[in-house]
Amino acid sequence: MAEDPQTFSRKNTHLGASFSDSVFTVLSLNRQQPIAPMPLDYPESFRELVRQFRRLPGIGPRSAERIALWLLRSPDAKSEQLLASIARARETLRTCRACGFFAEQEECMICRDEARAGRELCVVESATDILPLEKTGVFRGRYHALGGKLSPLDGVGPEQLRIAELLQRVGEERPSEVILALGVDVEGEATAHYLAELLAPGGIHVTRIAQGLPAGGGVEHADQITLHRALANRGVYGNGIPNGKTFGQG
Ligand code: ZN
Repeated sequence: MAEDPQTFSRKNTHLGASFSDSVFTVLSLNRQQPIAPMPLDYPESFRELVRQFRRLPGIGPRSAERIALWLLRSPDAKSEQLLASIARARETLRTCRACGFFAEQEECMICRDEARAGRELCVVESATDILPLEKTGVFRGRYHALGGKLSPLDGVGPEQLRIAELLQRVGEERPSEVILALGVDVEGEATAHYLAELLAPGGIHVTRIAQGLPAGGGVEHADQITLHRALANRGVYGNGIPNGKTFGQG
């Protein structure tokens, strides 16, 4: 007599006897319901590439997957170009020893520009603050990035910032004015106050960028602190320029 297929399977299972029996019973009872297959996923090498892209700031899982697919589908040259650009930037880029901006030589283009020597020195929190100010087109002096702002609770004191370098620079370059272009949060205020006190004994003309309404912002929706500062920082209006001030003309 031919062996019943169920008995055959039961005999040939390599699990322990009692456990395999109970599993077999359950499977037999549910044989109409297919066992859920393992979810299909990309091969490990692709998933690893996606994981690496996800580590980049602002890149979520879907974007990481799209970038990885784009790279793999593009001609080889594109991946190689990207790799070469990353390697070149990492090898070439450095921090300007004077101002802290990005440079390919010891000093950045702004610090090497002799036409800017002895003019205003604009102090900013971070090197990435320099380009937005530069793009306004109204400032023709030099910059100094502090590399952060005073924040004792986060363990950031004057020694952690490029404040000693600033003092040395002011002493050597004797700028016509030091402009504090720092944020208006508590740490920005504390840093500006600290720097103003440090620079005052040297007879340096220290100013701070004005605070007020943002472009496109109405008075109705501004908060009280902003309105208070906007009123306090008001200036003579002429030729479309508040105060009529331009750099290098006193
Ligand atoms: Zn520089």
